[in-house]
Amino acid sequence: MKLEAVIGLEIHVQLKTKSKMFCSCANILGEAPPNTAICPICMGYPGTLPVPNKTAIEWTQKTGAALDCVLALESKFDRKSYFYPDLPKGYQISQYDQPFVGSGLIDLVVDGQTRAIGIERIHLEEDAAKNTHPSTNSGQASYTLIDFNRAGTPLMEIVTKPDLCTPNEAKILLQELQRILRAIGVSDADMEKGQMRCDANVSLREQGSRKLHPKTEIKNLNSFRFVEKALAYEIDRQTKIWQTSGPLNKLSTRGFDAKKGITYEQRTKEEAADYRYFPEPDIPTFTFSTDYLAGINAGIPELPSAKKARFMRQLGVSDQHAQLFVDKPLLANFYEAVVSEIQQLDNDLVEINPSELPGLNLLAAKIILRQLREQILPGQKNNISPANFAELVVLVYQGRINKSVISQVIEAMQKTGGDPDHIIQNLGLSQVSDMSDLENLVNQTIEQNPDVVVKIKAGKSRGIQYLMGQVMAKSGGTANPEEVLRILKTKLA
Ligand code: ZN
Ligand code: MN
Repeated sequence: MKLEAVIGLEIHVQLKTKSKMFCSCANILGEAPPNTAICPICMGYPGTLPVPNKTAIEWTQKTGAALDCVLALESKFDRKSYFYPDLPKGYQISQYDQPFVGSGLIDLVVDGQTRAIGIERIHLEEDAAKNTHPSTNSGQASYTLIDFNRAGTPLMEIVTKPDLCTPNEAKILLQELQRILRAIGVSDADMEKGQMRCDANVSLREQGSRKLHPKTEIKNLNSFRFVEKALAYEIDRQTKIWQTSGPLNKLSTRGFDAKKGITYEQRTKEEAADYRYFPEPDIPTFTFSTDYLAGINAGIPELPSAKKARFMRQLGVSDQHAQLFVDKPLLANFYEAVVSEIQQLDNDLVEINPSELPGLNLLAAKIILRQLREQILPGQKNNISPANFAELVVLVYQGRINKSVISQVIEAMQKTGGDPDHIIQNLGLSQVSDMSDLENLVNQTIEQNPDVVVKIKAGKSRGIQYLMGQVMAKSGGTANPEEVLRILKTKLA
């Protein structure tokens, strides 16, 4: 009998709104001293009333629109009751049967094939406080510290359908989701920082069967790698159990021990009834007009997968380079600005033939990815204008400066904000193609390296590369390498 895995994910995403979900406390997400962003509402004092955060609701709907989901016309919050020290009210305001967002789809590219994975729903809730279990010299401390800064911050929960079959697919889904959340600007979705946290549900079934058996929920996975590892371990564990005693017979919740690479039993999971859900009496039901929801749908920018496809199709960028751009939106924006400047560049300095445009676009992509990845970063000033960069690309393409001095020119452009033509002239970096100059340099180099010349004449052609390096160094990187090689070969023949 062949078994297959059935995997579904529940993904909690911290929204980066300015304030918390139901009060006006700052949503600082761990950047302030403990318990400084709190008030009677998020501390759960009796008699306080929650006021929903409009932006958080809008962003949940925006996420739904980006994932092709149905946006609900009517929605409400519910109370989910359970007791835990990090939950001051004794219940969480969440959503039960009328989430803001219904079913949808996310497209994944797995081994070159596109696969659509179902989204079950997206709801909005409040996060709990953060517990810390300190350790002392003699082991675990006898107390727990609680930071309520996180209590009541907006938390969006995205639930997928159990459409995933492998740990790798689960990882790809999370990576794609992270890109989408960043592109629409609702969360930084950094798993290591807890901004995106994943619970993975997994069960097995006979291949081809549609039957679902009780699942295991692996809680709080906080990196792509852990999701993959935890699922692989759990599939293996369940396979062994199935082989001796058949499918699991009850739901359970497990944790993942990253050090040991294993999952372990935490508790038998509550059923929905144990949470005693009921409509939140302090917040009225929401109704949304179709116009308002159409506006949300219309406001979705080009998504990463579409952008990637467009870069490959329109600009001829390779799959790998397109992915790098999609993962760094600032770099992608700069590239697009440079491409449009290249198209407009036609002054007395450079003349561009339309047939050169595809080559120029590709060269621009290469130079940007090689030279600017550490220069164009969020929160960092960039002095290089797209127009000046476009000019640099043309100068390199037309052989007027050498590839070996590009980083020097870019450094000067970053420092001064100047244009490459002036910088090259000031630094004396124009490519030397003047024959007599080059011949002199080659002659000098040959004279100074008689032993290498002997070896080359004896058939060790690698010596030519060495001599070429010497000539290039003498010229300060400005010699035209093709010319140098040609002259060297003639002289040594
Ligand atoms: Zn508060
Ligand atoms: Mn939740």
